[in-house]
Amino acid sequence: MSQQPIKRRGLMLVLSSPSGAGKTTISRRILESEPGMALSISATTRQPRPGEVEGKDYFFVTPERFDQMVAEGAFLEHARVFDHRYGTPRAPVEEALAAGRDVLFDIDWQGTQQIREAAREDLVAVFILPPSTGALEARLKSRAQDSDEVVARRMAKAADEMSHWQEYDYVVVNREVEESVAQVASILAAERLRRDRQSGLRAFVESLRGEEG
Ligand code: 5GP
Repeated sequence: MSQQPIKRRGLMLVLSSPSGAGKTTISRRILESEPGMALSISATTRQPRPGEVEGKDYFFVTPERFDQMVAEGAFLEHARVFDHRYGTPRAPVEEALAAGRDVLFDIDWQGTQQIREAAREDLVAVFILPPSTGALEARLKSRAQDSDEVVARRMAKAADEMSHWQEYDYVVVNREVEESVAQVASILAAERLRRDRQSGLRAFVESLRGEEG
């Protein structure tokens, strides 16, 4: 028995940040280094950006379909962000967690609050901050996928977004991507070892004590 990994429940790792803080790169790197981890793919009513792939980046749906999914209770959380709606499909998350897999979410503070209310003990919420206003603006501009007007509005929104930093368990300032990835990996490693997450611990300790006696 001691050779088996100790059973534990999967956790929900939420990464939130204002857009342009580097969260997408960090998420991608974490997923590459954690092959067992699932990514929650959101549904959205916004149009795909160049290069975005249906079912990989998002499920792109009509507002009517989105409303229908809300009515069916198909979302774990959903929110309006900027001019569009975003929601986390419930079923894939529940399946992954039940199988003991961890799930990564790239969602905003509104979604994080809803998950916190529904499943506090399974949530690990990390907020990513840009190192400076200049860095944030430079990242938004270098994307060049959004119009100037959208960039300007997102800069204005970033201040609002960042006001929610205190609702998160951890805060990472993304000065250097390697360092930030290592910091998020450390958070994950520690959270996986939390006593109350390791559901197989009681049986394991009992077997150890039995062996001693
Ligand atoms: P973007 O349109 O740039 O892909 O995403 C805009 C914002 O929506 C980001 O802050 C992202 O984290 C957030 N977002 C993406 N998917 C979801 C979701 O399913 N739920 C919530 N609440 N926010 C989301």
